[in-house]
Amino acid sequence: MSDLHNLSVKALATLLQTKEVSAVEVATRFLARMGGNPHNAFLDIDSEATLAQAQASDAKLANGTAGPLEGVPVAHKDVFVTRDFATTAGSKMLSGYRSPFDATVVQGLRSAGMVTLGKLNCDEFAMGSANENSAYGAVTNPWDTARVPGGSSGGSAAAVAAGLAPAATGTDTGGSIRQPASFCGITGIKPTYGRASRYGMIAYASSLDQAGPMARSAEDCALLLSAMCGPDPDRDSTSLDVPAEDFTLSLGAPLDGLRIGIPKEFFGDGLHADVRAAVDLALAELTKQGAKLVPISLPRTELSIPVYYIIAPAEASSNLSRFDGVKFGHRAKDYTDLESMYKRSRAEGLGSEVKRRIMTGTYVLSHGYYDAYYLQAQKIRRMIADDFQNAFKDCDVIAGPVAPSVAWKLGENAGDPVADYLADIFTLPASLAGLPGMSVPAGFGAHHMPVGLQLIGNYFKEAQLLNVAHRLQQATDFHLQKPAGV
Ligand code: GLN
Repeated sequence: MSDLHNLSVKALATLLQTKEVSAVEVATRFLARMGGNPHNAFLDIDSEATLAQAQASDAKLANGTAGPLEGVPVAHKDVFVTRDFATTAGSKMLSGYRSPFDATVVQGLRSAGMVTLGKLNCDEFAMGSANENSAYGAVTNPWDTARVPGGSSGGSAAAVAAGLAPAATGTDTGGSIRQPASFCGITGIKPTYGRASRYGMIAYASSLDQAGPMARSAEDCALLLSAMCGPDPDRDSTSLDVPAEDFTLSLGAPLDGLRIGIPKEFFGDGLHADVRAAVDLALAELTKQGAKLVPISLPRTELSIPVYYIIAPAEASSNLSRFDGVKFGHRAKDYTDLESMYKRSRAEGLGSEVKRRIMTGTYVLSHGYYDAYYLQAQKIRRMIADDFQNAFKDCDVIAGPVAPSVAWKLGENAGDPVADYLADIFTLPASLAGLPGMSVPAGFGAHHMPVGLQLIGNYFKEAQLLNVAHRLQQATDFHLQKPAGV
């Protein structure tokens, strides 16, 4: 089977259960493809650790104790801590760090039987929109290696698009699953905030951070998501008391009468015509299947940028205080006293975008500015969430673009962080509201680069989103198209 690397998670799971291939064979094939680290997608590869997990899976397949995804490989974004692999969060600060435990999400996928291929490159502490903020170098987009893969889960998106892994985990604080999925032509879903445990996910902005799967199809995402969700009350107090669900059960339900809300603010001047054309075609396909398009308004869409870029840095400035060279992280060699040790360790260990966010966050939280910035941002965040609830009176799901353009060129926004921030405009609103959102391949735009359709659902409507995406994927083959040579 020469095309093992192009098979879906579902197909691989079936071949493994029927023993047509072994977990070791599958892992060996992917490890061979990962050789030389194409696209700089991986930050840690350890074939011995992977093969040991695969052997354990083969034993379970042989003795009848296999999980539903037994032996299917997955790679993890480097913000999930893992025992078998190093975890750096893309930062020099954590270079060589090894966690004594696995993140709950990693554990969930391992319990379902998945074998870990390695750890995936990402923006430092997940702060970025292009994966250019990784301390270990940029990731290239498999569709055009002169372009960014998106971020911050850029390694995850590139690995799946390039056939280096059938699926990957990602995290999404303001778009980091949806936007790289869109830029690399794969499918990704961020569930409702609180659905998946944040335990063992290195914190960026805790009130926004959420884990989710990235894979070629909605069906594969559903398989992974089912193993990633569920309450974790002892270890993540914000994990919701909602039982895990089999997200594959509702796949295939007809779309007749489904009301798809089209927010006019997502289709304004900033949206590139090529992206709009692809999104419109995908929407036309959904209407052909019986869905109805309903005009809606999310009037505070533009405000989501300043609100997010106040709240996320504020939380980051607090979360990242633990990396001080004592409790965690790199410790400078030369220092004179405790304070100089803190200063030098942080100066050496953290990258410039992370420092910018810590400074912004500290500023907006400081006495005298708290009311003007942080408190104000919190109030508008609530209004953004209310706007969605108003919109959901008239529609069942919301659809629009994931990003205003296709993937830009590496280095294009160098020295202009705000250019990256502005490109987050369509993913930030759902993040601020804590709503589930996904990116579904919707064709190609300028330079034959992939375009994603964004679907946003009400709280706990992941199954509905996955079904809409699945129906689209039954009628189109955008998600099956591959970059040259894959
Ligand atoms: N681009 C956004 C940021 O830089 C979102 C990142 C994310 O979702 N982790 O903060």
